[in-house]
Amino acid sequence: MVVGAGPAGLTLTHELLRRGVPVRLVDAAAGPAPTSRALATHARTLETYDQMGILPDLMPKGRRVQKFTLHQNGRKLAALNADYSQLATRYPMTVMVDQAITEQVLRDAVSRLGVEVEWGTRLQSLEHDADGATAVLDRADGTRETVRTPWLVGCDGGHSTVRKLLGLTLVGDSSETWLIADAVLDTDLDDRSIHWLRTRYGSLMAVPFPEQGKWRLLDTADASYDGDADAVGARFAERLSLGVGRPVRVERPTWVSVFTIQQRMIRSMRSGRCLVAGDAAHVHSPASGQGMNTGIQDAYNLAWKLAAVVRGEAAEALLDTYSEERVPVGAALLGSTNRATQLIQLKHPVAAFVLPVMFKVVSTFPALRSKVSRKIMKAMSALDLSYADSALSRPAAPGGDGPAPGRRLSELTEADLAQPGFAALAEELRAVGWKLLAGGSHPALDGTLAALEKRFGGWLSVRTVAGPDAGPTALPDPDGALRRRLGLTAAGSWVLVRPDGYVSARGGAGETALLASALTAATAGLVTDPLSDTGGAAAAH
Ligand SMILES: Cc1cc2nc3c(=O)[nH]c(=O)nc-3n(C[C@H](O)[C@H](O)[C@H](O)COP(=O)(O)OP(=O)(O)OC[C@H]3O[C@@H](n4cnc5c(N)ncnc54)[C@H](O)[C@@H]3O)c2cc1C
Repeated sequence: MVVGAGPAGLTLTHELLRRGVPVRLVDAAAGPAPTSRALATHARTLETYDQMGILPDLMPKGRRVQKFTLHQNGRKLAALNADYSQLATRYPMTVMVDQAITEQVLRDAVSRLGVEVEWGTRLQSLEHDADGATAVLDRADGTRETVRTPWLVGCDGGHSTVRKLLGLTLVGDSSETWLIADAVLDTDLDDRSIHWLRTRYGSLMAVPFPEQGKWRLLDTADASYDGDADAVGARFAERLSLGVGRPVRVERPTWVSVFTIQQRMIRSMRSGRCLVAGDAAHVHSPASGQGMNTGIQDAYNLAWKLAAVVRGEAAEALLDTYSEERVPVGAALLGSTNRATQLIQLKHPVAAFVLPVMFKVVSTFPALRSKVSRKIMKAMSALDLSYADSALSRPAAPGGDGPAPGRRLSELTEADLAQPGFAALAEELRAVGWKLLAGGSHPALDGTLAALEKRFGGWLSVRTVAGPDAGPTALPDPDGALRRRLGLTAAGSWVLVRPDGYVSARGGAGETALLASALTAATAGLVTDPLSDTGGAAAAH
């Protein structure tokens, strides 16, 4: 059972269903939330949508943003082009798309897999033991249902009932209160850019929506709101006009909200048969637009592990790696969004004098500008993330080619996809299981590969990356470009890739013990002798 049909719950449900795990998805709300909330969708989330197969549905609904413009008291200080060029991804961009639309796309995808959200169904209480959880659900029509489920995941947002009932304590604090409004503007502001404006009142932000003329407005200095949306519109009009130095007209906001910035997280995302994901596990400032993106990555990390356990392919201990891998991500995020919050609101009076100088320096020296921009982009896109320290990663010999254990395999660019091997790799990454890719045939490995495919074919896809006559199961790589990129140029070298696309281990033809150890970790010890049936074949060679 998945509790909560926000972005985290919908992603989790989708990925469990893709792996054949039946799911019940309940949500306390009467229906989908109409408010926009998260806008920014970052590169790693776009890659994840591609692997889930929903990117073509979402992409046309978004607006690509690649710039950050700073204004102070009527003067444009700098326009920093976000430098995505150093990011090895097919999606070098941030896509602005209304969270209500993202959720609609996810809901439709879940529906295509046969599950509808059970709206008006609130998880009221919960008990759990070694075999599962018993949940009490209250329906909007006044009826109550007690249901037993082998696994339960709380994706029920920042005020998570599941988290509270499990006694998982949030640590951290709440800090500033900000005002937020969505409104149509009459302005010549560049709508391919995010704008940050400083006036005598404090700092504002304006972020473009995909819809023409519509903007998300943030006031970090004055969060007062008494229900009069027109007054909020007038206040933003005055402050935006001061910031850009010419009149900006603001129509009546379609949504106004006051929110207190929370910076909190839990230390463990699992308690026996119950887990939590998304805002239920970590809430932070929306300053760098990370909440939804991180929740989707939590769900994507958890789904394949939970499916492997449910399907009997791995021991329950595999789920411990979920917390081990994702809690540090949440913790790092608290630090970075805290810094982003401080930066955006910049309350210090000295800032007014220092800023113009600082941005002048940054924008005058291209190398510095590109360094600053790259640093921000890498952190924001989540492409820099590595699970190198995970129990599922095996260190590789230093200095080798190709993505290292812990890194994502999909370090491909749009230009790469023109070659058949890269396109085949992108397709392979959309498949739901583990992947073992080998750089061509080698007598010390061939028998092992064939036997592994026979034994674990239900969850392990074994492919060679090779020339044109390598057979139907090979990834075509006529000119060797893909093998060079993946570090598979030596015959018999191999790379083991997790279902979420991160490298678990890599080695040469003779390193079968390393492969065995990584496969044992993949099953969390359920299979202790993954190569036992293959030893004879390898030895014969
Ligand atoms: C103004 C604003 C701007 C933001 N901007 C960004 C951005 O640009 N980028 C970004 O990545 N993030 C952004 N965020 C954060 C983002 O909206 C959240 O991180 C995201 O919604 C979290 O998704 P979730 O699925 O974890 O939880 P939620 O979206 O909160 O979904 C939880 C669901 O659980 C349901 N529920 C709650 N309790 C129960 C219960 N007891 N039983 C059953 N169902 C229950 C709720 O009805 C809800 O549908 C922003 C947030 C705000 C408020």
